[in-house]
Amino acid sequence: MSESLSLGELIAADQPSVSWPSDWAATTKRLFTTTSAGLGQPTLLNSASIEEVLTCPGWWAGQREVDESELSMAGFRLKATRRVARRWLAENLGSTGSVQPLTFTGQVLHRFAATDDLLGHWIRMMPAGQLAELRAEVAMGLVRLDADWPNRSALPSLVPGAVSARTRLGRMTLSSELVDATVGAASVVDGGFEAGAMLVSFSMTPPTPARLEGLGPAVLLHGLRTGCPPARIVSWDLVGGTGIARTVDNEFVSMWCERVCEATRCIGEMQSWFEPRLNGGEHCQICPLFDRCPAADRSEYAW
Ligand code: SF4
Repeated sequence: MSESLSLGELIAADQPSVSWPSDWAATTKRLFTTTSAGLGQPTLLNSASIEEVLTCPGWWAGQREVDESELSMAGFRLKATRRVARRWLAENLGSTGSVQPLTFTGQVLHRFAATDDLLGHWIRMMPAGQLAELRAEVAMGLVRLDADWPNRSALPSLVPGAVSARTRLGRMTLSSELVDATVGAASVVDGGFEAGAMLVSFSMTPPTPARLEGLGPAVLLHGLRTGCPPARIVSWDLVGGTGIARTVDNEFVSMWCERVCEATRCIGEMQSWFEPRLNGGEHCQICPLFDRCPAADRSEYAW
């Protein structure tokens, strides 16, 4: 994993080349589709649900009871910011910030507010003062993005967002909403692929290795759509202006293939006949079942 660098440096850094066989996508698709036959009903998997079910199946089951409208304020801010940043990239690809960031942010938030989705609802419900704060915060993120990534228009290819954010594989749908930009592409070499793409994910807090690792499903989705996984993943903090990156190697991809299969098998068992297993631990403190679960680890609360 690289040290903390600016986005421009992270994108431009040299990386080892990783090769993949030409049938990587077909083989992986077959693996996931076959494994999904054990599911009792169509099931969505993303990095959060995989983490939940592999940590404590009961946590996964409890999380399914939680309404999306309970998204935290921090989660909402991040969602709004990332969506504005993607628009900014899409509409300013040929130049660096031709529109004033504060004006741009206000216009896009206004457009979001006119939609029927949860984000639109949140924006409409926000007090004017909070909305002004959000607008200023997002606009600052755009200013930093332009300052830290000034040469993006010179890149061979830059796609705002992911080339694939969701795909159906039998009864399982794999999803990742975490990619905000895709840079570069793989090359065809000796009948196989040499990885070349980079996936960039924005955050509003300092980047962590765990956040980078959470891009695993995004890596698989990219590979299933384009033929092979990306070469590198980048997590970058729009507020602090720092990021970290890692090379996507065979070990990382195999680990995530195994995690997806294991999570699918575990959910299939619960959907068939098994009660969820309960594995208490530190994670209980963020589980929605904490107050009523007999296996919850309450050691932090012994006082
Ligand atoms: S409280 Fe802990 S043990 Fe119980 S379901 Fe949640 S994570 Fe699992």
